[in-house]
Amino acid sequence: MLKIGSHVSLKGSEMMLGSVKEALSYNANSFMIYTGAPQNTRRRPIEDLRVEEAHQLMKENNLDLSNVVIHAPYVMNLANGDPEKRQFAVDFLTSEIKRTALIGAKQIVLHPGAHVKQGADIGIAFIIEGLDKVIENTKELDVLIALETMAGKGTECGRNFEEIAEIMNGVKDNSRLSVCFDTCHTHDAGYKIRDDFDSVIEEFDRLVGKEKISVFHINDSKNDISASKDRHENIGFGYIGFDALNKVVNHPDFMDIPKILETPYVTPVDDPKNRIYPPYKEEIEMFRNQKFDPEILDKIRKKDTI
Ligand code: FE
Ligand code: FE
Ligand code: ZN
Repeated sequence: MLKIGSHVSLKGSEMMLGSVKEALSYNANSFMIYTGAPQNTRRRPIEDLRVEEAHQLMKENNLDLSNVVIHAPYVMNLANGDPEKRQFAVDFLTSEIKRTALIGAKQIVLHPGAHVKQGADIGIAFIIEGLDKVIENTKELDVLIALETMAGKGTECGRNFEEIAEIMNGVKDNSRLSVCFDTCHTHDAGYKIRDDFDSVIEEFDRLVGKEKISVFHINDSKNDISASKDRHENIGFGYIGFDALNKVVNHPDFMDIPKILETPYVTPVDDPKNRIYPPYKEEIEMFRNQKFDPEILDKIRKKDTI
């Protein structure tokens, strides 16, 4: 069965219970959460997250914990040139992995890091060193670290399959390393997701191994191939298009792998700053039906005026 969902929020008094409710409201059977704001590292204690109630609600709805994905905050940088900041990233990622295990999830997505000005080689060496420490710190935990394929904006490491392979091969015990394959990022990095996904996967398989993919991020892109931009677009409204993304989502090789949407919220026609409509229910439905509805965003926008 297709495993598909979106990122959902973890907030308010309901915390993880609210995340599960949000996922269910989109008819999702998978979801991704940040354990706090993605742009900072302040975190609520695990006792406040209402994990048990969330698990109960998941059980009642046949939602499996193996389909829950955590995303590490993107401000954390294992490749930072400053040793103190690198140590902070190692410590924080260690605590995020512990939190992931307590939540009951099996994987945490990580942006490998940005080398700033030192060059990719030094950046990648720092990432390997950091991952070695984090893996050692959490060796008793059954949590995968899924390295995300990056768009290559700024000085991001992991912008091609060679760099992902280099990191994975460099880490001493890489049995807990996997890959989060982001369609917008790989397209922006120059891979032909729109025109020839099979050859892209062949190349990935040769360099990294396709069995290493433990989660997909399914996003259309606001930019053409090779733009190195990383701006997500709603499904069917960008440069990748519905048919190509549908091929990824329903690909026979990856049926059991969770697919997570990170597409933008839709804004009402008369109030473009008001991000009130997450389009995930409709986008998930299109992938389940394998049929694009070009009026979908208009329908969502109109809801506001009723
Ligand atoms: Fe990400
Ligand atoms: Fe992503
Ligand atoms: Zn992105």
